[in-house]
Amino acid sequence: MSSIREQRDVVVIGGGIGGLAAAALLARGGRTVTLVEKAPRFGGRAITTEREGFKFNLGIHAFYSGGPGEAVLRELGITLSGGQTDRSLYECQDGARIGRLPVDADSLATSEVLDPASRAELAQLLRLLRTEPLHVWRGRPVSAWLEKHARHPVVRRLLEAVVRLATYTHAPDEVDAAYALSLVGSQRGALLLDGGWQTLVNGLESAARAAGVEMIHGAAVTGIELGPPHTVRLPTRTLHTTAVVVATDVMAAARLLGCPSVDAWAARARPVRAACLDLALHALPDPRRLVVLRLDQPLYYSVHSRSCRLAPVGGALLHLVKYLPLRPSDLDEDPREDRRQLEAWLDELQPGWREVVVASQYLPRIQVSGGAVTAGQQGLQGRPSPIVPDAPGVYLVGDFVGAQDHLAHASLASAEAVARDVLERAA
Ligand SMILES: Cc1cc2nc3c(=O)[nH]c(=O)nc-3n(C[C@H](O)[C@H](O)[C@H](O)COP(=O)(O)OP(=O)(O)OC[C@H]3O[C@@H](n4cnc5c(N)ncnc54)[C@H](O)[C@@H]3O)c2cc1C
Repeated sequence: MSSIREQRDVVVIGGGIGGLAAAALLARGGRTVTLVEKAPRFGGRAITTEREGFKFNLGIHAFYSGGPGEAVLRELGITLSGGQTDRSLYECQDGARIGRLPVDADSLATSEVLDPASRAELAQLLRLLRTEPLHVWRGRPVSAWLEKHARHPVVRRLLEAVVRLATYTHAPDEVDAAYALSLVGSQRGALLLDGGWQTLVNGLESAARAAGVEMIHGAAVTGIELGPPHTVRLPTRTLHTTAVVVATDVMAAARLLGCPSVDAWAARARPVRAACLDLALHALPDPRRLVVLRLDQPLYYSVHSRSCRLAPVGGALLHLVKYLPLRPSDLDEDPREDRRQLEAWLDELQPGWREVVVASQYLPRIQVSGGAVTAGQQGLQGRPSPIVPDAPGVYLVGDFVGAQDHLAHASLASAEAVARDVLERAA
């Protein structure tokens, strides 16, 4: 097929939530925008797939409240519906001991995993996390803060586990203390979305279409020649544009752009990965056991369908996570062993679950975030800017980009920063 030559103000590469938001904001600002997604559908890591009436996200997902992504969604007219897990239902397990997760005054006073001395220390440290200026800990790992403040091993294990829960990152010796501990101190709520994250994707996709974005899916961008104007190559089309927004993972961005600053980022990036097992059950064998954070192992269990609409009436959709260490994937253990570990733990939490499984999904090495926020890179401030310094008119969007927040909020915040810059320059 012959190649067609076309001119656009902006080409956005990657149709996850970051790319969709950037495309929608730019088109609303009056630019001609083409969005290109290689997968057969938009949404990237935020898609939801329905099986037997159950809505499977790509692993456990919660939209944290209070982040910059909320303003982006408001601007695009997107409202999210769902529910929050009742914190009084949270439990933790330390070896054979299981008890309330001590996160507030009530659970602190009663949790069975603490003795009087560790209870007092934890209360004091949770107070400190709310009052201490944590930015001074930027560039130092969580383990250094714990070394200074936590004397009781159980308190240390507990805070490490809560950091894992908040950041998905199992590396206390590397995670930036200012970033991780401010998340723990702020105790942000988390909205579990009715219908899954697809509702967020659908909202962004509708906003982009309504704004006039040309939406292409099922076609990968195969190359970019940097200009200006820049040339973006698709299998059957060639687009010419003044601005390119690369909203892919960092490795794909480096391959496509070939600019030194992005290459350097790709070489340094430490993706955050997890082994996720999601199970749809006819019914929950023990309906009282809903959320358990493991202190002695990097494991987490939660029944999201209890708090939002993800399952048919009577059914339960539950999530098990093993947080994986930050290390090259060729050093990984056998992923089947991780699954056995998660299933064996579920035998303890929900005996009889194997007899009531309707459907399951195992994602043994899914990338949760494109880049861990490490002390070595100076925390959030050390992440790459959305504006690529050595390629004018080229931008990055993603959960590894920009100094604002993490995960989905970072993708949405970087999309907003890119749209603002492109629109201001052209004005
Ligand atoms: C298990 C798990 C749990 C998570 N939990 C949470 C959570 O609780 N809270 C939270 O806020 N976030 C969470 N996240 C993270 C969140 O899903 C992501 O931060 C967000 O979806 C990233 O969106 P994105 O658009 O930046 O990237 P992606 O969704 O990765 O989108 C990038 C897109 O680029 C496309 N692409 C790549 N190369 C090309 C090419 N050459 N041409 C065209 N297209 C291309 C890809 O196909 C993909 O669709 C979780 C993620 C996972 C996997």
